[in-house]
Amino acid sequence: MFPVGLTIAGSDNSAGAGVQADLKTMSALGVYGVTAITCVVAEVPGKVSAIQAIEPRIVAEQIRLLFEAFPIGALKTGMLYSCEIIETVCDTLRGCREPMPQPPPIVVDPVMVATSGDPLLQRDAIALYRERLFPMATLITPNLDEVRTLLDREVTSVAEMRTAGQELVATYGRAFLIKGGHLRLNPAIDLLCAPDGGVQEFSAPFVPGVSTHGTGCTYAAAITAGLAKGLSLSEAASEAKQYLATTVAHFLRWPREDGRTTDAL
Ligand code: PLP
Repeated sequence: MFPVGLTIAGSDNSAGAGVQADLKTMSALGVYGVTAITCVVAEVPGKVSAIQAIEPRIVAEQIRLLFEAFPIGALKTGMLYSCEIIETVCDTLRGCREPMPQPPPIVVDPVMVATSGDPLLQRDAIALYRERLFPMATLITPNLDEVRTLLDREVTSVAEMRTAGQELVATYGRAFLIKGGHLRLNPAIDLLCAPDGGVQEFSAPFVPGVSTHGTGCTYAAAITAGLAKGLSLSEAASEAKQYLATTVAHFLRWPREDGRTTDAL
């Protein structure tokens, strides 16, 4: 049976991040992607100009219908934006997923701020992530800005990433993938910290000068695709890191009128 992956995320009309990135990634990895859209974002790499949240009732209905009609093998959450949407997603998933004999794993990409600096999550929604969404997750995939928000301190080295990951695992009891790209080290290092205390390191060449717009979404979607195909978390994360490295190595670039460039994976 062809595996199915669900993404609950925002729409990026420039298609580098959000549900568009998730669908492209799942397709490339042999998984049929389905979507529940949480908000529509008018953006291009480096610039967010407007956000329209989708009514929570419609978000819930998209998820409910998909669970009724498809054998969802794994799912991910991306940009959830508001407290209302986070509450709705958690309530709906509880209703649809928990009665299943084998509830599909959940990858939570705790999207908070775009690389451009634009907020993609209301400030008071972070508490709900901690209280409601993290306890349902199989894996949580923060970058170092998100780790700083979660732990209220800077992480500036791989050694500190390891301590931060172990602290997050101890607090929430879930697996964490701490993504180290923001350290700008070559190679770029990520740490998969498991609830049993194990830490696995993934590395890939750091390609300077490439816009990283959508790398977080692509990474989490690739892990979700692996889980939907029945891989273990460790296998799925390792294959996802390789897939991400390939997309970064083959990025696309278009010249612009203002002399700058637009890059995409
Ligand atoms: N837009 C949407 C809809 C997203 O879901 C995300 C990240 O998850 C972004 C933008 C941010 O992309 P980046 O920070 O890679 O520019």
